[in-house]
Amino acid sequence: MADAPRTVLISGCSSGIGLELAVQLAHDHRHRYQVVATMRDLGKKGTLEAAAGEALGQTLTVAQLDVCSDESVAQCLSSIQGGEVDVLVNNAGVGLVGPLEGLSLAAMQNVFDTNFFGAVRLVRAVLPGMKRRRKGHIVVVSSVMGLQGVVFNEAYAASKFALEGFFESLAVQLLQFNIFITLVEPGPVVTNFEGKLLEQVSTAEFPDTDPDTLHYFRDFYLPASRELFHSVGQSPQDVAQVIVKVISSTRPPLRQQTNARYTPLIVLKTVDPSGSLYVRITHCLLFRWTRLLNLGLRCLACGCLRFRIWPR
Ligand code: NAD
Repeated sequence: MADAPRTVLISGCSSGIGLELAVQLAHDHRHRYQVVATMRDLGKKGTLEAAAGEALGQTLTVAQLDVCSDESVAQCLSSIQGGEVDVLVNNAGVGLVGPLEGLSLAAMQNVFDTNFFGAVRLVRAVLPGMKRRRKGHIVVVSSVMGLQGVVFNEAYAASKFALEGFFESLAVQLLQFNIFITLVEPGPVVTNFEGKLLEQVSTAEFPDTDPDTLHYFRDFYLPASRELFHSVGQSPQDVAQVIVKVISSTRPPLRQQTNARYTPLIVLKTVDPSGSLYVRITHCLLFRWTRLLNLGLRCLACGCLRFRIWPR
């Protein structure tokens, strides 16, 4: 007899990776999943419902959930049939880019409230049930910025580092309960997330920021960031596919990167534990060897550099 479908609750499904993941799981040809696709604002459910097609009301339901609100989380969980979540995907997230002096503390706290405490709030809500049933899988959409800091993304990277430390620590205890944790670490993904953010910051004023820093941000960081997304950016569909594979695995890994083209960019961090190599080379590539950086990114995009380093 086939196993009963697993209930998968996903946060942040009105767009991007969350939307794609909800749709792919709901269309699983073996009908292994019952998807609760949640979003903060149900007024934005149209795109998801259209993409879900026949799965809507069958293997996919849409529910309201604001990861920053205890009441919203409690209400959402109480609306789930049987109240049981087998797989939780913490996907909701916000970004923040810009010179530190020009960003408010409130904006940085919002990043932590959503990206870090939002995930913690959901995990605390589903964990007692998972522990009672002695099974479960918690997937956290982290980022390569949870592994290495990226200039002008300090608060965002810090929120993802916080997730990495929190969930790596929790993973040890949870194995006793047969509950797995997976930190999914995408590189650049071409969604609203970065597109909107880069558009906003290119026209933002950033008061209290000195002219040199603004010049480095606008004339070095922003063009390099656009080139990075253009050259090695992944589609949300590709990232969702990786997450589907992780969810269907019987022994899911603790960490899962999604973009092989980005791997060479984190090698500097892994080969030198002191961190100096990463900081110095990234500094030179961004501010001094801009042409080399662009050439390198184009090589990564065509795959030649990666296959020279790691031949197939
Ligand atoms: P996206 O903006 O399309 O999706 C983020 C979703 O989170 C949106 O639907 C948004 O409404 C939702 N959200 C924000 N605050 C919320 C709240 N309080 N409650 C509920 N939902 C809320 O962007 P995306 O790229 O699909 O991002 C999904 C995840 O992937 C995020 O955690 C992001 O940090 C991570 N990520 C994105 C990239 C990238 O380059 N786009 C790279 C690495 C990791």
